[in-house]
Amino acid sequence: MIRTNEFVVMPETDQDRELLYRLLDGAASLWNQLTFARRQQFFDGEDIWAADRFYDEYKGLLGSATAETMARVNDRAWRAFFSRRGRDSSAQPPGYWGNEEDGRDLRLFLRNRAYSLQWGQYSRIEFTVGREIKPEYGLTPNERPRVPIHGNPKWKGTQGELQIVYDDLTNGFRAYQSVTVDPKLERSSNGGEAAALDVGAVNLVACATTKGVQFLYDGTRPWEQFEATSNAIAQAQSKLPEGEHTSKRINRLYRRRSSRRDHCVDALLRDLVERVIDDGIQTIYVGDLTGVVRRTPWKSTNRKLTEFWANRRFTDRLGHLCDEHGIELVTVQEFDSSQECPDCGTVEGTTRDRDRLRCRCGYEGHADLTAARTLLSREIGKLPRPMARPVRFQWDNHRWRSTTDATA
Ligand SMILES: [Zn+2]
Repeated sequence: MIRTNEFVVMPETDQDRELLYRLLDGAASLWNQLTFARRQQFFDGEDIWAADRFYDEYKGLLGSATAETMARVNDRAWRAFFSRRGRDSSAQPPGYWGNEEDGRDLRLFLRNRAYSLQWGQYSRIEFTVGREIKPEYGLTPNERPRVPIHGNPKWKGTQGELQIVYDDLTNGFRAYQSVTVDPKLERSSNGGEAAALDVGAVNLVACATTKGVQFLYDGTRPWEQFEATSNAIAQAQSKLPEGEHTSKRINRLYRRRSSRRDHCVDALLRDLVERVIDDGIQTIYVGDLTGVVRRTPWKSTNRKLTEFWANRRFTDRLGHLCDEHGIELVTVQEFDSSQECPDCGTVEGTTRDRDRLRCRCGYEGHADLTAARTLLSREIGKLPRPMARPVRFQWDNHRWRSTTDATA
């Protein structure tokens, strides 16, 4: 079973900060260059695997292991695209990480032997960098940079790939480490009742439980409001005098947008947690939100999702509520759960059309609920058939109402 440990990388000196920034920017630049070359080949009908991997250009900065890892991650994205294209003709080839105007999305992948972590009083990460830049940072050829980290790793197991991401909303660096965990040692397999959540946009949350109950929280209204305010912000920004970056009005709009969203999401979480408690749920599994954002093929949807789900606020809040009520919260990686058929287990045989997931074996079901069920059955084994129709909730700006509730 693969789990993700999340923590913060906290460079203490400007020099360390600059080094990290430079590495992530270099990695993103390598990604974009390789993606550009491969897209050219692809649209010209040529073999994309023949494109130059730009290894020599980046190994001085990133180190040879990391330059190679970045190319492999890109390979993975293309392979996923080719497999998706087989069943979905609208699938798009891998895209760029950011662009010239807005800047690159800074992200770096390190393979398991290219870094080491030490947890304790002085927690830190050590990682490899290219030989060429070492003298600039006062490192000898055999030395590796060391940067303080902060967090509480939840999972112990075999260390896998590590991803470092620069988050421009918090102006900080976050790391995601994948760890292979021995299922026998996992404390959460307590045999109790459990629920899984699929987080998205069409439905903010789809929830399935081992008792066969299913909930859907409709995202239509919260999204309309979020988008309307985002558009008002964009419009106000376009009218700013030259050289100015913000105004009182823009700040007010941002605040309104977040407080509305927070109000709606907090109400959702309270409603959801109360309902699952009533149902005797002891564990909640939730998909890793970075996965939600990554699997969306459209850049604009990507940005919106990232903005809406406001890095971590959702899982933090959910975590607090679960603590309060003695429920265990487990974050899991999603890996195609939204494409997998719950009956026959295939990923290749399914097609998604709006909110329906269909499989060539004959299965058909609600896509988000199926994803939640798949997530759950991966954790606890085969599930009973759902007992009843899903309960749907809509946001009325005050509370989440079941659409079957009487509305006097
Ligand atoms: Zn099937």
